[in-house]
Amino acid sequence: MANLDKIIKEALSDIVALKILYNEPMSRYTSLSAGGKADALIIVENEEQLIEVIKRLRKERIDLLPVGNLTNIIVRDGGYRGAILLMKGFNAIDYSNTPEGAHYIYAQAGAALASVVNRSLAEELTGLEFCAGIPGSVGGAVRMNAGAYGKEMKDVIDSVFLFDAEDGKKELPRQHIAFGYRNSGLPPEAIILAANFSLQKGQCEQIKKAIQEIVQWRKEKHPLEYPNAGSVFKNMPGQPAGKLIEELGMKGMNCGDAQVSLKHANFIVNKGKATASDILKLIALIQTRVKKEKGISLEPEVVIIGED
Ligand SMILES: Cc1cc2nc3c(=O)[nH]c(=O)nc-3n(C[C@H](O)[C@H](O)[C@H](O)COP(=O)(O)OP(=O)(O)OC[C@H]3O[C@@H](n4cnc5c(N)ncnc54)[C@H](O)[C@@H]3O)c2cc1C
Repeated sequence: MANLDKIIKEALSDIVALKILYNEPMSRYTSLSAGGKADALIIVENEEQLIEVIKRLRKERIDLLPVGNLTNIIVRDGGYRGAILLMKGFNAIDYSNTPEGAHYIYAQAGAALASVVNRSLAEELTGLEFCAGIPGSVGGAVRMNAGAYGKEMKDVIDSVFLFDAEDGKKELPRQHIAFGYRNSGLPPEAIILAANFSLQKGQCEQIKKAIQEIVQWRKEKHPLEYPNAGSVFKNMPGQPAGKLIEELGMKGMNCGDAQVSLKHANFIVNKGKATASDILKLIALIQTRVKKEKGISLEPEVVIIGED
């Protein structure tokens, strides 16, 4: 399909102060440092801009994809036909409480999880420690129902603020969201604007200690020295994907510069110039071997987008 940059340019030409990069290599943004070009990367600074962009692109039937920190995305080498919306300006974080003793942190979609964890520590609130060291944004973490150490986003979310072209802006209470394993169940076209987290009063020193221990554990166990996208495959109940891959002796296996990490078998690292195709070939190789030798179909946890 032809590049859509010209149509996008025309549709958005008169939106004041909107930053758009055309034919932008996504390898500059993905945590794997790989991936093809997006027809347009739109850096959205506020709700007004976002709503206008969505309205106009939907009218032109242009695909659009909101992203946060691109730490869970593989963009195929042929690139993304449409517009990627980087929720850059959406980074406000606020604290509130009620006379009944409820405590909330409100965070916009583009806020880094790390900043939300820091803010909850500053307010002496416990509940979000499990997010320490997850390098994503609030929007990405809500969409993926990110989790670690037996806890997930769904355990701390009170409500999610969404925008979609049909219904406009709305707040969905936690009970109305069908969260699953690494999946929020939210409609694919919904754009997450912000989330409210319900947290408890805790003790500063204990919260700090828990965060430090998690960050230290991650440094020891995860190959943070190379570009990666976290866990590549979803774990099966009682059978972590990394363990299955390691048992088949696949640590260190490579396709070009894409390598199954020597430190953690459920991570693929980019040792230099890996392309998305190298990474996807390695993913397919792992899936074939695990299926053949263990009878298990591994499902990617990473979101794969774009054209070959
Ligand atoms: C070193 C490392 C460690 C990791 N550890 C963990 C871990 O312990 N647990 C875990 O769950 N994950 C982990 N991850 C994966 C990743 O960090 C999380 O999934 C994170 O929540 C993704 O956030 P992001 O902002 O990078 O999302 P992106 O990669 O930008 O996007 C992920 C998905 O969310 C969608 N999305 C993003 N923003 C919005 C929005 N505003 N509205 C609607 N949809 C949106 C995107 O379209 C895409 O489908 C790790 C990754 C790395 C690199």
